[in-house]
Amino acid sequence: ILQVSSKVKSNSAWYSTSSFSSSVPAVKLFIDGKFVESKSDKWIEIHNPATNEVIGRVPQATKAEMDAAIASCKRAFPAWADTSVLSRQQVLLRYQQLIKENLKEIAKLITLEQGKTLADAEGDVFRGLQVVEHACSVTSLMMGETMPSITKDMDLYSYRLPLGVCAGIAPFNFPAMIPLWMFPMAMVCGNTFLMKPSERVPGATMLLAKLLQDSGAPDGTLNIIHGQHEAVNFICDHPDIKAISFVGSNQAGEYIFERGSRHGKRVQANMGAKNHGVVMPDANKENTLNQLVGAAFGAAGQRCMALSTAVLVGEAKKWLPELVERAKNLRVNAGDQPGADLGPLITPQAKERVCNLIDSGTKEGASILLDGRKIKVKGYENGNFVGPTIISNVKPNMTCYKEEIFGPVLVVLETETLDEAIQIVNNNPYGNGTAIFTTNGATARKYAHLVDVGQVGVNVPIPVPLPMFSFTGSRSSFRGDTNFYGKQGIQFYTQLKTITSQWKEEDATLSSPAVVMPT
Ligand code: NAD
Repeated sequence: ILQVSSKVKSNSAWYSTSSFSSSVPAVKLFIDGKFVESKSDKWIEIHNPATNEVIGRVPQATKAEMDAAIASCKRAFPAWADTSVLSRQQVLLRYQQLIKENLKEIAKLITLEQGKTLADAEGDVFRGLQVVEHACSVTSLMMGETMPSITKDMDLYSYRLPLGVCAGIAPFNFPAMIPLWMFPMAMVCGNTFLMKPSERVPGATMLLAKLLQDSGAPDGTLNIIHGQHEAVNFICDHPDIKAISFVGSNQAGEYIFERGSRHGKRVQANMGAKNHGVVMPDANKENTLNQLVGAAFGAAGQRCMALSTAVLVGEAKKWLPELVERAKNLRVNAGDQPGADLGPLITPQAKERVCNLIDSGTKEGASILLDGRKIKVKGYENGNFVGPTIISNVKPNMTCYKEEIFGPVLVVLETETLDEAIQIVNNNPYGNGTAIFTTNGATARKYAHLVDVGQVGVNVPIPVPLPMFSFTGSRSSFRGDTNFYGKQGIQFYTQLKTITSQWKEEDATLSSPAVVMPT
């Protein structure tokens, strides 16, 4: 994979191998249609999580570079907003084709920088591609409303219009899908976009930018800066940015929501999660256990929709030994190795944090039924691997229950009734996703109805909505009032203009000023 990806990189405009002060290749910025080397003196290393080898470096863009990126977005906006919706749609139609053609290359970059398995990385690109495909229906999605003959000779109609320059700040765990939730939707509506990918996994975004340029997106419609806090503060504060899309942790999301809102911007912030899978004793056992294991440990648990908490109701608690058996059989390996079910965690610090949370379970009285802390992966001894781990006898006051672990760890609680399970889910501060496993329609309906969570699966472990719907986290998992993609995404990236228009056939000249409120 390193060889293939270095081929992609050396051939690509966005990855410099002749960087001035280091032999490690440097990721470029994308400013005004050009991939440019940063003049920054602050750089962040990119590591392969399976080996911890340094595979590149990403700049913390300088103030002048960030200013240039915003100026480019601002300059490009009037012409792009005026470009016909059909022409913008054509760019996106070409884009979805190019993403399909390059899907495997993008996936390889994801595996290299992020660590997930190649098959899972392809899923990452595919779920983003679906949003691009959906954005191609902009000609219907952006329609306004009309009401003819609101009074004599008067019609009322509304347009959805772009906002101006929008910005996106993305996390490390879906290097393709999440940026693709953002800039294609914003741009197809006529906005220009400033993207800041996660500094740990910039490669996929850079290749996606190149493909967008190859699809015919004019210079300046998408600009990319890199960095951490300074870049984030720049985005939150800049008066030319009208809206910010954020996905990531609560610590960053709350901060960005507050700071961006204070500066008068729209902000949508998708944040952390603790997703519960409620298992009823009448569920299809075989199916449920496989679903649970796949959704808890896939992507090494580094998904905001990972099913990280099982609530076994009544007799379902007897299934625990079989759950452990299935989890034991998963193969932990570098993401590019054939047969790997899960890869490493993103950093050594993430591994340490996950191991500490497992330790806290033991200290606070839970039982470790399967322990992945000491796993060794042959040939990858320096990687950030944690094997599947199952902690049972967990109570809601324990640290391993309260914290989002974001690793291959399933915590298990037990209840006697569905009502108790619902109470547990609703008392948890997060409301991102949940699933119920049952063969009883009335049980499923009751659960879906009473649970206060954005996305509910019925016998579906990871209910991430398709893009004709929206990604609908609630409570501490979301800040803002308009969600990502789907109709809500279009609303987020547009503003309404309402026109009241009167055309009379006869002469309708007023004979005196109309000083009374029109009725
Ligand atoms: P993160 O918050 O550390 O980073 C996300 C982005 O914010 C990055 O671009 C980073 O540079 C920036 N950032 C990080 N810390 C910051 C700070 N203190 N102030 C300002 N900016 C900061 O998140 P991550 O570790 O990359 O991603 C994992 C988190 O994202 C998990 O909590 C996961 O649940 C969440 N997530 C949520 C969703 C969702 O849709 N709800 C989807 C994916 C990931």
